[in-house]
Amino acid sequence: MVSRVIPVDRFDLVIFGGTGDLARRKILPGLYRRFCAGQMPDGARIIGAARSDLDRGAFQDMVRDAITEFGTGAPCEGATLDDFLETLDYMRVDARGEDGWDALKDMLRDDSDVVRAFYFSVGPGLFGDIAARLQSHGLATEDSRVVVEKPFGRDLGSARALNADLAQHFREDQIYRIDHYLGKETVQNLMAVRFGNVLFEPLWNAQFVDHIQITVAETVSVEGRGAYYDKSGAMRDMVQNHLMQLLCLIAMEPPSRFDPDAVRDEKLKVIRALAPVEPHHIVRGQYEAGGGVASYRDHAENPKSFTESFIALRCHIENWRWAGVPFYLRTGKRMKARMSEITVVFKPTRHSIFDIGEGEDVHSNMLHIRLQPNEGMTLDVTIKEPGPGGMRLVTVPLDMTFSEALGPEAEDVPDAYERLIMDVIRGNQTLFMRGDEVEAAWAWTDPIIAGWEARADVPKPYEPGSSGPEDALMLMHRDGRRWREIKA
Ligand code: NAP
Repeated sequence: MVSRVIPVDRFDLVIFGGTGDLARRKILPGLYRRFCAGQMPDGARIIGAARSDLDRGAFQDMVRDAITEFGTGAPCEGATLDDFLETLDYMRVDARGEDGWDALKDMLRDDSDVVRAFYFSVGPGLFGDIAARLQSHGLATEDSRVVVEKPFGRDLGSARALNADLAQHFREDQIYRIDHYLGKETVQNLMAVRFGNVLFEPLWNAQFVDHIQITVAETVSVEGRGAYYDKSGAMRDMVQNHLMQLLCLIAMEPPSRFDPDAVRDEKLKVIRALAPVEPHHIVRGQYEAGGGVASYRDHAENPKSFTESFIALRCHIENWRWAGVPFYLRTGKRMKARMSEITVVFKPTRHSIFDIGEGEDVHSNMLHIRLQPNEGMTLDVTIKEPGPGGMRLVTVPLDMTFSEALGPEAEDVPDAYERLIMDVIRGNQTLFMRGDEVEAAWAWTDPIIAGWEARADVPKPYEPGSSGPEDALMLMHRDGRRWREIKA
């Protein structure tokens, strides 16, 4: 395979919150990896901005340390790292004060060929302040782009307020709302597989699909961010954004073109077609103590917390394509393994001409789309068991992990943040959430949360290292189905 790293345009990227955890862990090491890959053009400039009193050298040292700690996999070191650090600068600004803004403006190049982007890697409470000062101090140009991080609100009202704040200063085509799940290679491959082949799309509907499962299981606890997490919970932290985005891509109609609005229009239709979820189709859980790790309530420092660290639910999309097809979603912390996977379970053949004997491991076709670990796809197909013994059948995975076909370069793919930041510079919004999408997702989520709050629903305890509460298994068993095993 020929490498197709195409350098992006020259840019000035200001990272507000350039000293923060996200910048050190993801954004700056990601930019460094793109630099190593040859994708950053000469003349790329990255400016950290925060309240900390740093000069350029101290910021460069901080970034060097961050890359050493978090930049694993970067294919270059030494002199190249020094070259990368040369692209950096730093300006002290307070989002809520006026100091530093004019000096920051002076650092930016007044050249219409240089892309100007502002990454808001700060809490959402500062989005409005920063947007307003970018305008009042004349830093924002007609074509500047702004990148905003999750969480984008905690309900419909706050999301609308954030959208309104940003809309006062920027057009929608300037705003890039990040959901890093959309930057994952396999997620984009899902679209390529669905819409680039004749094989799948004719089967991708209620006539042939029995149900769809989406699992995002994490092994980590909420330790260290328990107080923050306790105000949100799995529904707000994971389902409203990441799982919802995956649901949209798996369920949407083919867009007429692969362009930002065509794709996002189709995703929006999916969210708007989601039926309200019945209370008995929701299972919430909280991990207990175990394996030397404290319980959720201890981590949250709230012995009476009713916030869920796990959720499983069954939902329905009320449209022609998906009528009657359940979508099962589950996500949780402190689970058995780290695994993000979508599985499309097809219906059995209409009529079996084979006598399936006892002990024959045969099931209907399933397409597994794995986001992590080991991004890739497998399709379970039924074949004849090789060898003597008559016509015995077995269902085996047809591995569609692409590295063998495409060579080692297929494994050297940019991580989600790298890809998304490069898309910002390219001006491609396809993999970013539009304001109306985010609001529609909250409009579906809010009544579900209000429902369990009104019922004073108590989450079910579950053992750490498990697949979640027993009731989550029952959610499927009642329907005569079962979850995919959670395994790394
Ligand atoms: P963080 O570690 O607390 O960093 C916050 C940054 O904002 C720091 O650089 C801080 O620097 C700066 N800041 C705070 N108040 C400021 C002000 N008044 N003016 C200017 N700068 C200010 O937070 P984070 O974890 O990096 O998260 C940043 C955003 O990304 C949040 O919205 C978070 O929800 C989101 N996010 C984070 C992660 C993650 O893995 N960390 C993942 C997904 C989303 P000074 O104190 O020097 O000003």
